[in-house]
Amino acid sequence: MNGLPTADFFAFESLLSSKEQAKLAELREFLAAEIAPYASDWWNRAEFPAHLLPKLAALELSTPAQRGYSNLFAGLVIAEMTRVDTSIATFFLVHHDLFVESLYGFGSASQKDRLLADASSLRITGAFALTEPGHGSDVAGGMETRARRISSSTGEPDDDGDTWVLNGAKRWIGNGTFCDYMLVWARDEDPHCAPGTVRGFIVDASLPGVSRSRIENKIALRTVQNADIVFEDVRVAEADRFAGISSFEDTNHLLRGSRIMVAWQAVGQQLAAFDVARQYAVERHQFGRPLAKFQLIQQQLVTMLGNAVASLGMMARLAQLQDDGAADMPQVALAKSCTSARMRETVALGRSILGGNGMVTDYRMAKIFADAEAIYTYEGSYEINTLIVGRAVTGVSAIV
Ligand SMILES: Cc1cc2nc3c(=O)[nH]c(=O)nc-3n(C[C@H](O)[C@H](O)[C@H](O)COP(=O)(O)OP(=O)(O)OC[C@H]3O[C@@H](n4cnc5c(N)ncnc54)[C@H](O)[C@@H]3O)c2cc1C
Repeated sequence: MNGLPTADFFAFESLLSSKEQAKLAELREFLAAEIAPYASDWWNRAEFPAHLLPKLAALELSTPAQRGYSNLFAGLVIAEMTRVDTSIATFFLVHHDLFVESLYGFGSASQKDRLLADASSLRITGAFALTEPGHGSDVAGGMETRARRISSSTGEPDDDGDTWVLNGAKRWIGNGTFCDYMLVWARDEDPHCAPGTVRGFIVDASLPGVSRSRIENKIALRTVQNADIVFEDVRVAEADRFAGISSFEDTNHLLRGSRIMVAWQAVGQQLAAFDVARQYAVERHQFGRPLAKFQLIQQQLVTMLGNAVASLGMMARLAQLQDDGAADMPQVALAKSCTSARMRETVALGRSILGGNGMVTDYRMAKIFADAEAIYTYEGSYEINTLIVGRAVTGVSAIV
């Protein structure tokens, strides 16, 4: 707002290089012109703006670390996107931080040759299919989707077979209704495998036996297309398996990275809530004076700002640890649980400052308030991330 300080109250952005600051400014212009005016409408109609894909690709902001940017920059990109529209940020995160990063991390040379360039420039889109109807928080141990290796010529189980047969179901899969490819995680049926052997496959979404349906009536991230997906005897070539994955732990590095990005979403969500609530408080008059003149409203705004800046500070330090290759899972889990708890308080205060107008998406805050609930729950719920930290600091697990 004119003449008033930004929500980045401690100027964390000034820690970026001048090139990164310029790129972030370019992103802000894009978001203001191409997303902000339309985001509530897409959300209300639960429609994904597919026409934006070439424009998003032209920003050249996918997987910033692979492009030589700092981890602080990568985080601020997601925070800024979230600040304007949580759904677009989530699409971006699922596609780039889960699908594309998986190709970088686990893909063979030929898988990369075939998919990486198109995926990085959004000519093809991807999803990450891990959660199941019966298994969310406990999916690592409870996964029911099964993979059986066979010989395509005999159809019989074969340890050296050229084909896998997938059976099972996944739920909540972001981009799942329209994606070209999905990374599907499945337990190896072979009784001779080590217990807990999990395989990862790049599944062409048009393969026979794949059926997907949109999850309707969501109260958060309505623009994101989440799907229920069923796999019935889906035949996937051995060439489409991630050869480097044999247990769930192998995905930890990947999930650590995407969890960090979701914590950055919790930052962006708070920046958005503060922006909207402050503007409203300054412009809205009651009792013949602006809301901003009431002490209780000022206190609420300052609590929101303090939460946002504390979250930003925690994430900026985590980004430094990432730059040094030293961010471990308990640190990441603390960041996700803390920022999302602060976020829940921040968006609730923001919603309250808008009074009745905080109930309708026309004023943005209702959407910010509702979208925060998805951030609170996905990429390890608040509770699960809290218990990961609890286990690290006590040496005792309370998860199971
Ligand atoms: C909008 C949205 C998008 C998503 N996108 C994807 C996606 O793209 N790909 C994908 O694979 N998944 C996705 N998910 C799934 C998401 O990761 C799961 O929702 C999340 O892991 C929680 O699982 P659940 O919903 O099955 O809840 P449950 O695991 O059933 O948990 C229900 C409640 O119980 C709590 N709980 C569970 N176990 C414990 C415990 N041991 N101690 C204390 N509390 C516990 C949880 O914290 C939660 O509050 C998405 C989810 C949402 C809502």
